[in-house]
Amino acid sequence: MTETIDAPAATRIPHWIGGRRVEGGSGRNGPVFNPATGVQTGAVDFATAEEVDAAVQAAREAFPAWRQTSLAKRAELFFRIRELLHARREEMAEILTREHGKVLSDALGEVTRGLEVVEHCCGIPTLLKGEHSEQASTGIDVYSIRQPLGVVAGITPFNFPAMVPMWMWAPAIACGNCFVLKPSEKDPSASLWVAELLQEAGLPDGVFNVVMGDRVAVDALLEHPEVAAISFVGSTPVARAVYEKATASGKRCQALGGAKNHLIVLPDADVDAAADAAISAGYGSAGERCMAVSVVVAVGDVAQPLVDAIRERIPKVKVGDGMDPSSEMGPLVTREHRDRVASYVENAPAEGATIVVDGREGVPDEGFFLNPSLLDDVTPEMKAYVDEIFGPVLGVTRVGTYEEAVRLVNESPYGNGVAIFTRDGGAARQFQFDVQAGMVGINVPIPVPVAYYSFGGWKSSLFGDLHVYGPESIGFYTRGKVVTQRWPDPATSQIDLGFPQTR
Ligand code: NAD
Repeated sequence: MTETIDAPAATRIPHWIGGRRVEGGSGRNGPVFNPATGVQTGAVDFATAEEVDAAVQAAREAFPAWRQTSLAKRAELFFRIRELLHARREEMAEILTREHGKVLSDALGEVTRGLEVVEHCCGIPTLLKGEHSEQASTGIDVYSIRQPLGVVAGITPFNFPAMVPMWMWAPAIACGNCFVLKPSEKDPSASLWVAELLQEAGLPDGVFNVVMGDRVAVDALLEHPEVAAISFVGSTPVARAVYEKATASGKRCQALGGAKNHLIVLPDADVDAAADAAISAGYGSAGERCMAVSVVVAVGDVAQPLVDAIRERIPKVKVGDGMDPSSEMGPLVTREHRDRVASYVENAPAEGATIVVDGREGVPDEGFFLNPSLLDDVTPEMKAYVDEIFGPVLGVTRVGTYEEAVRLVNESPYGNGVAIFTRDGGAARQFQFDVQAGMVGINVPIPVPVAYYSFGGWKSSLFGDLHVYGPESIGFYTRGKVVTQRWPDPATSQIDLGFPQTR
């Protein structure tokens, strides 16, 4: 049974503004749960517009000195941040497990992938190098530089409470900006922990700030005239609204949305490898990943052996409290979300799909658990196919040909990740050419790019032009400037009203 304790008795989770914890004064807060027990463990403050303004002002005041800080010093600081995060990664992983529910090994994986972005930012002197053309015209040199935007903000989802903020704050700060983070209200503690770690590493106060909260805080950031750019990651309807509002008020914006990722299995694929991949990518982190596989598209006669192979593997997935090292899959983030995900299994027969494995059976009374579920004969009109379920419910759609499979992916409104399993290099190459998605896996089920490439989807999975982390994030968090210079001999100076010619 879920036990809910009074918010004041739970741990209070405040804001972080100008280098210190600041308790919110709005009188509004939200409950934070341990999803494995269902017990409320914290109450997170919800910021007012005035508190958001205080965070933006702290960032604004820190900006001139931070912008002046040499690239060498910024790189040195990022090496220290990297070392501290690496040394204390298990502490961070435990915070994630207690509030998100993902198992410890998965939480550690999240921290490691976030750390890769921090490591990439250790190379900021190289990443910010411009270009130089000597003697572009007689006696004239031209060069390009990139400069920070000022105060930038990030708004992040519940499913990666450490990694997704790292995708944003690391490159933003390395580029010389000051940052305001609005993390998910469902699992906010990791952001506060990071704020203290950054201070310990030597980051000047005000360069990194955290405002806790809900829509009120988001709207205040979107409307704030001193915020130059917004990075958002979350569900598609909110991503679209954030993008429209941010750009309408003249801000640069990248807003990453939801997904419905397909894993296509061609008839020649290794069935065991494909089934292993479907289990890992479908049920890892209880399906609460934007790169989770949600639909397996079985082409031709691979369908039945594949469904059988996935079904056989499901009972071996150990579901339990993420703090137990033997658990492989934890609970969902909240009771409401668990019930919503379970409703897709409940409604599957009425929609015409077949329940092969029913994850509603055998779940513990405590916490927000749902076991892995497998649906077969899922067709494109069904809600179980259309919606981003964001839970451990895997659907199998059977098609006759490769062309049908690709059409399904390309007709999806989303275009985040996609994967193909095949032994045919020619088919894989054709797939890479044909498919409309931002991240493609060939015999790789969750193709999250390494930190020195950039991450982002197509269609309704991304609003904006530039992807997150990697080289595109350097472009996002800086503005280009081109300088044309001449150091003439004063004796040669003359007036010329004509348009400058290159000679
Ligand atoms: P969400 O959209 O509910 O919330 C994301 C953020 O927006 C949170 O900080 C939240 O407080 C805020 N928010 C929520 N509703 C709002 C509103 N009406 N107005 C303004 N702000 C609002 O998403 P979530 O449930 O936290 O996260 C899961 C979603 O995020 C999934 O759809 C998943 O696919 C997506 N996601 C996408 C990526 C990606 O890279 N494309 C990565 C991770 C998660």
